[in-house]
Amino acid sequence: MLLITIFATERTLTQTNIPMNRFSEFNQMEMARRGRIEVICGSMFSGKTEELIRRLKRAKFAKQKVEIFKPALDTRYSDVEVVSHDSNHIGSTPIESSTSILLLATDVDVVGIDEAQFFDADLVDVCNELARRGTRVIIAGLDMDFKCQPFGPMPALMSIADEVTKVHAICVRCGNLAYVSHRLVSNDKQVLLGEKAEYEPLCRECYHAAIREREEANK
Ligand SMILES: [Zn+2]
Repeated sequence: MLLITIFATERTLTQTNIPMNRFSEFNQMEMARRGRIEVICGSMFSGKTEELIRRLKRAKFAKQKVEIFKPALDTRYSDVEVVSHDSNHIGSTPIESSTSILLLATDVDVVGIDEAQFFDADLVDVCNELARRGTRVIIAGLDMDFKCQPFGPMPALMSIADEVTKVHAICVRCGNLAYVSHRLVSNDKQVLLGEKAEYEPLCRECYHAAIREREEANK
């Protein structure tokens, strides 16, 4: 059934003279190339970490040497594992500073970095250096903070990446694709580790409505 569907899609695209790879520059050859940077970004509950874990597990199945790093401050679930919201997990090393990655990731094929938004700005140079050495670097992180501002080194990492994947949560108010992690508690610090009690994914419209509602309530 799947084969039939793929064949049908191919024929449809051929009929309209649109090449199959038009919307994706990353064909099989490109995916096999070493020394590249991939960024997976999005709001909370968008499946960023699940996608990171999926790519890393696939590399492990292929007998590639994989190392995973996360900022030492992200201690929500486990000190030494990258854990997604649905409890999928994979062993990782918590580190204080991004430059440690260069020392710890010698002789590996793939480096995974989770919660990259919490790292320092040096992470950009670190990722470029890893890619130059021939390492595949896969980075997951929040693109924006709770005020819809670009978060930490993420915008720069997206700029230097070979491939950027933006994943989306579902807006809890209207069911459209979410755009931002709206903070439910009153706290103005940029870094506030939290879960479902502290954050909700909202689309752009519902986010601005929520901000207006809060402003009205505070009058
Ligand atoms: Zn919405």
